[in-house]
Amino acid sequence: MRKFNFCAGPAALPEPVLRQAQEELLDWQGIGCSVMEVSHRSPEYTVVAEQAEQDLRDLLSIPENYKVLFLQGGATAQFSAVPWNLFGAGSKTADYIHTGQWAEKAIVEARRYGNVNVVASSEDRNFSYAPAADAWEESPDAAYFHYTPNETIGGVEFPYIPEVKAPLIADMSSTILSQPIPVEKFGFIYAGAQKNIGPSGIAVGIVRDDLLDRAMPEIPRSLSWKIAAEGHSMDNTPPTFAWYLSGLVFKWLKAQGGVDAMAELSLKKSGLLYEFLDRSDFFSSPVDVSCRSRMNVPFVLADAALDKKFLLEAEEAGLLNLKGHRSVGGMRASLYNAVPLEAVEALVAFMADFEQRNG
Ligand SMILES: *Cc1c(COP(=O)(O)O)cnc(C)c1O
Repeated sequence: MRKFNFCAGPAALPEPVLRQAQEELLDWQGIGCSVMEVSHRSPEYTVVAEQAEQDLRDLLSIPENYKVLFLQGGATAQFSAVPWNLFGAGSKTADYIHTGQWAEKAIVEARRYGNVNVVASSEDRNFSYAPAADAWEESPDAAYFHYTPNETIGGVEFPYIPEVKAPLIADMSSTILSQPIPVEKFGFIYAGAQKNIGPSGIAVGIVRDDLLDRAMPEIPRSLSWKIAAEGHSMDNTPPTFAWYLSGLVFKWLKAQGGVDAMAELSLKKSGLLYEFLDRSDFFSSPVDVSCRSRMNVPFVLADAALDKKFLLEAEEAGLLNLKGHRSVGGMRASLYNAVPLEAVEALVAFMADFEQRNG
């Protein structure tokens, strides 16, 4: 029996997608073998690859002058790829907003190749908020401006998109496809797939084509957006199964009503949980109300000694993977697209009951 899965990543996938993959696993499209066992350059697979790109373009209304890339090495490889691809056109200075662990990892990588100007940070209050839009001064010569729209661990989501002079770069690993985005405001968007797209092993990049000629000459071939774009993300063998499965998720998303429907649903799901947390005397959210994430909801119990009991009983109730990140403790419920409203209803009912028995 499938249970409700609140894992932060790799995360829940839509059940119909898993069923389709199961059905066609052994004999894909009647060719007598699985999708994993054919050349990535075969006519059959080419259709899969191109269709996935087209569906993603449709879902996010990606303009013509942006390339869609299917990349390897996860979002983490992009922490390095961003400076490699953008520090070669003169300036080796970049502006970063520091909002928590993922932003920090991106900053540490960029510092290996150039100057990082941390223009704003929420470290003063333990990364529980997104800095205000007027909190920073941009570097006059920044090659780019990087931020993390949704900090997966802290559960902090920017309620606005920064307006900056330099190309805006966003790590959307845990928020992509959860709402419409004005792609034209960004220079480069990237996301590891295993939260809101598909299985791990693949990452999506969306890059404005005028940024493809700014790479440092020593850039490793495997990190070059230009080479990826020119080779249709097949300069070397891509993770074909992850790409195929992501494509099935894109089809599923379209059938659900696309990102507009996901935006509405994400507000409903997270709203239900936050309302409960705010009513409760026993559970609470550590994040500022103005920037609470729709995707990742951290919460704490009034008595941390009950954490173990909570997790054990939750699991018995069919509510999986609610343990908070090891660095912050407490609990975290991740409510990505594939997590249904019923999962959150079941979680809130369980929490209310737990509070009554232990509060
Ligand atoms: C999970 C996550 C990452 C890391 O992704 P990998 O694919 O494991 O490299 C980076 N940034 C954010 C915001 C994430 O949520």
